[in-house]
Amino acid sequence: MRHLAIIGSGPAGYYTAEAAQKLWGEDVRVDIFDRLPVPFGLIRTGVAPDHQSIKGVSRRYENVALSDNVRFVGNVSVGSDVSIAELQGLYDAVVLATGAPHDRPLDLPGAELANVFGSAQFVGWYNGHPQFAGLDPDLSGRTAVIIGNGNVALDVTRILAKTRAEFAGSDIVAHALDILAGSKIDRVVILGRRGPHQIAMTPKELGELAHLARACPRVNPGDLPEDGEDALLEPGQRKSVQHLRSFAAIPEAHRQEQPVEIEFDFFAAPKAILGTSQVEGVEIERTRLEGGRAVGTGETYVIPASLVVACIGYQTSPIPGVPFEESAGRFANHEGRILPGLYCVGWARRGPSGTIGTNRPDGFAIIERIAEDIGEGTSKPGRPGFDALAQSRGLDVVTFRDWQKIDEAEIQRARQDSPREKFVRVDDMIEAAKRP
Ligand code: NAP
Repeated sequence: MRHLAIIGSGPAGYYTAEAAQKLWGEDVRVDIFDRLPVPFGLIRTGVAPDHQSIKGVSRRYENVALSDNVRFVGNVSVGSDVSIAELQGLYDAVVLATGAPHDRPLDLPGAELANVFGSAQFVGWYNGHPQFAGLDPDLSGRTAVIIGNGNVALDVTRILAKTRAEFAGSDIVAHALDILAGSKIDRVVILGRRGPHQIAMTPKELGELAHLARACPRVNPGDLPEDGEDALLEPGQRKSVQHLRSFAAIPEAHRQEQPVEIEFDFFAAPKAILGTSQVEGVEIERTRLEGGRAVGTGETYVIPASLVVACIGYQTSPIPGVPFEESAGRFANHEGRILPGLYCVGWARRGPSGTIGTNRPDGFAIIERIAEDIGEGTSKPGRPGFDALAQSRGLDVVTFRDWQKIDEAEIQRARQDSPREKFVRVDDMIEAAKRP
């Protein structure tokens, strides 16, 4: 028998559990830990609430979770409730699938001003992550600046631009919907420090901006490279750039009909966030490309703005005693191996890149490596050992069955046009889990 502990119940964690199940069948026991009482990590609190079809992948994880050899161990914080070393004593392999839940710091003067957020905070707020549910952003000003040219920048822009009616069918939490419904923002500026050919936005996500009820994207035609240069791009990127070209060609008359403008500002590197207590503007330096890198031209300008969301990427949280690669924001590892018996997978292994599906081959690959390392398994105590430890510490473990009660309660309390109303406080989740 092999005993595996997976830390983190997001896509990387569940795909790893699925791979273990496929390889070893009945000869493995997997415990998936999560610090929250609810599973699915990024699917629940990262994927945009209006992208329900992407969230549907959690049904696949449910099949894994409901088998006898995989168990969800929720509401247990690895690092405080139980240490990595303790888990290593109990399980043959410990796999860190903790994702990248923190913002890469926005290293600019003024970044600490009120109403300047990182995307982990802002996305966590509208997705009801307990850590960020109380963010309470001020949307009473007219201009928001979004920093970054990736898909998260698109998510945040779209959420700020949508009407209340456009959230029908989404699971955006009520506190965010109420604040967004009263938003006065009518200009969202997306800053890219490089150009249209360097965006990290995928075509489907970018194309959505052309179909919003009250918002219209604007691209300065002068920022676009010559048409012929698109041929050098790989097909996905080329499609994204075609969207930008079509945005640049939107007739002014149509634009005038749309009260919210989404403006792409390329070759624009933020230099400072301006303001006294709350953000009042962003100072920007014009850039040009040199060998693919953005280089400042010395020309600066200011965009007055009352909200800034930096969507510049995420990083993994370091764990004391676990080697960490600071510059890449992930655990130091060689093909997922960190130390004997300790592994990482998904964003915790490779940094925050790729789609949800990228985690599947990653999960299968790490299980192959673990199989090479642990063979038939050892005589570690596994589950019963953890249960004894949890009992001795009085840990309030939330099981998958408990989660199903939380799930049911969230579905029951949903608004009329929403699949669920999430609990945003851990206490409320646990209360729902413990209902008879
Ligand atoms: P990302 O794709 O890495 O994009 C980060 C962006 O921030 C880049 O444009 C980068 O520009 C810019 N940036 C970084 N540091 C900056 C700085 N100091 N100043 C100005 N700009 C800076 O990251 P992400 O948007 O957070 O997305 C993370 C991953 O999740 C990606 O793989 C993404 O595709 C995925 N995701 C997918 C979906 C979806 O499929 N629907 C939705 C959300 C997220 P440079 O290129 O110049 O470095």
